[in-house]
Amino acid sequence: MHNLISIDGSQGEGGGQIVRSSLALSAITGAAVEISRIRAGRPKPGLARQHLTSARAAARVCNGQLEGDELGSQRLLLRPGPVTGGHYEFQVGSAGSAMLVLQTVLPVLLNADQPSVVQLEGGTHNPMAPPFDFLQRAFLPLINRMGPTVSVELHRAGFYPAGGGQVTLHVEPRPLSGFDLLQRGKRVHRQITAVVANLPGNIARREVDVARRKLNWTEAECRQRTVESNGPGNVVWAEMAYEHTTEVFTAFGEKGVPAEQVVNRLVRSIRRWMKHEAPVGPHLADQLMLPLALSAHQNAGAVSGGRFRTTELTQHAWTHRDILQTFLNVAIDVEGEHRECEVVIRPSH
Ligand code: ATP
Repeated sequence: MHNLISIDGSQGEGGGQIVRSSLALSAITGAAVEISRIRAGRPKPGLARQHLTSARAAARVCNGQLEGDELGSQRLLLRPGPVTGGHYEFQVGSAGSAMLVLQTVLPVLLNADQPSVVQLEGGTHNPMAPPFDFLQRAFLPLINRMGPTVSVELHRAGFYPAGGGQVTLHVEPRPLSGFDLLQRGKRVHRQITAVVANLPGNIARREVDVARRKLNWTEAECRQRTVESNGPGNVVWAEMAYEHTTEVFTAFGEKGVPAEQVVNRLVRSIRRWMKHEAPVGPHLADQLMLPLALSAHQNAGAVSGGRFRTTELTQHAWTHRDILQTFLNVAIDVEGEHRECEVVIRPSH
């Protein structure tokens, strides 16, 4: 008989991450989980579409029984069964982020005994969620460094409010082996890409011009693209690739916000990043803790756990750390909390 872990969904940062990671970790460890007070402090508490789709997806890939899976629900109970790889399709059914559904099921499918192909539909470039390009260029290469082979294909971009983006995820599991990531190494590539869908191309051109002028990058390092989507959308992102790591920073176009203001947000993120030396930015730090903690907990790969240096540990990441330590036999220590810090993840038994 498996134990039941109770999670207060309003703890710490109190957001959707507590739901997604708790369900994924329940599916992986086989421990049932009850999450209460889900997103209690948010203006619209409880499960939004994106969380609901993630919850059902987590239950599906582990053949679990799920209670409380309704829009607005503030309580979920998952009794997980065996994780099964295979072919899955998940649709958010709104512009909610399909990338957050991916974030939920990927760690579970890394624990399956066979490969998976997952078709996802929803938002692919949403504020407050990992954009497709971040997952493809920053996050997944680090997962692949841990042993598995994971890739994503973007068939159609999905922006708020029309959604309708389409992505395929391919997962070939292997035991997770941790690593240390303490240095960026030499810079090998940098690129800004301004993307528009169903909007005038001069929006992307203005963004590229401002970025080039303010950062003093070459013409070849700043490009623009028009993509297919169900509705209007604009996103501008920067890829910063180094010997040991790649980071991706993103700014999102918004109705009523001038292109110059949108790209200025990106320029500020890049300048902040350039002032630091740590190889891992705030979002990547948050997301990297989970696979490294799994490698420490499972102790099945060549290296169990690891350490990385980050420019910043957000409140979101601190909350994530608490959830990981609740489910897994790991210790996640943070050394030096000032300008930059080092996150050390190791087995605790
Ligand atoms: P809530 O609405 O309750 O705040 P949520 O479910 O929308 O929560 P969060 O809990 O805030 O989402 O989690 C968002 C996730 O998206 C985190 O993993 C965060 O690291 C990631 N994320 C947000 N913005 C970016 C970005 N620009 N690049 C990469 N990852 C991002």
